[in-house]
Amino acid sequence: MWIIGRGLAVCAVLVLAAGCGVEQPIAPEPAPEAAPSSVSAPVLESAPAPVVTPGAGRTGVKPPVVQHGPRDRDVVSLTFDADMTDAMAARLRSGAVSSYANLALLKLLERRKIPATFFVTGQWAEQYPQLTRRFAGNPQFEVANHSYEHAAFTAGCYTLPQLPPGAMTEDVAKTFRVLEPYGGRQTRYFRFPGLCHDKAALKALAPLGVTVVDGDVVSGDPFARGPAPIVRAVLSQVKPGSIIILHITEANAQYTDDALPKILAGLQRRGLRPVMLSEMLDGPSGG
Ligand SMILES: [Zn+2]
Repeated sequence: MWIIGRGLAVCAVLVLAAGCGVEQPIAPEPAPEAAPSSVSAPVLESAPAPVVTPGAGRTGVKPPVVQHGPRDRDVVSLTFDADMTDAMAARLRSGAVSSYANLALLKLLERRKIPATFFVTGQWAEQYPQLTRRFAGNPQFEVANHSYEHAAFTAGCYTLPQLPPGAMTEDVAKTFRVLEPYGGRQTRYFRFPGLCHDKAALKALAPLGVTVVDGDVVSGDPFARGPAPIVRAVLSQVKPGSIIILHITEANAQYTDDALPKILAGLQRRGLRPVMLSEMLDGPSGG
């Protein structure tokens, strides 16, 4: 089911007035024609448009968890995770791996002006500041949080090392501090590494006012042996409102760029248009 949090609901309301997550200056009222009478109209101070960050929720409560968007609009959201574990960083340093950044994928998204939401780990942004700048500098893209070091927030989350419970809040807060200076379309969307979360993990995020984003279409692009299984996985699961999980991590997901054109063609055949997550969750003016 589509779970909408208070932050999103607030956002949906505000969008009617001001656009969601988009700073829209209010155009000044045209000066009234000089009235023949001496009675002048009261001068109304125009309040600044409220700026609402997509995904921003109430602090102090467990964050909402979103699996997908509304099923009654023909839009989907392409999300790309930028993982960077300590082990990955070590492989880069040793030269065992040359890149965890799929440049061909980024160029394809840029060239075809495909809206996308990037879930970036703090360590990936520190490794690739220029690419993070390209995410933030493109009005088709928005930036979301995928933890600092892609460690697990629960036990038994694939083979990921587990964060101590006391370190969870700071891990996510630190990532916002890394990402926010890049500007652009920053969000308060957060995706758990491996999508692994439980009550304790959600509670740890309560001080941060985030929206947790899972997804309903797992592409399986990490460690896929070619583009075909990725295309099949996406197109066999996708529906209106789907949140599609892909990766921009090259060495771990090297066929994502090869799969993307066929995924886009398949979406088009089904009449599904990719939009940024905030536009799908907050309404057409959100993006
Ligand atoms: Zn990940």
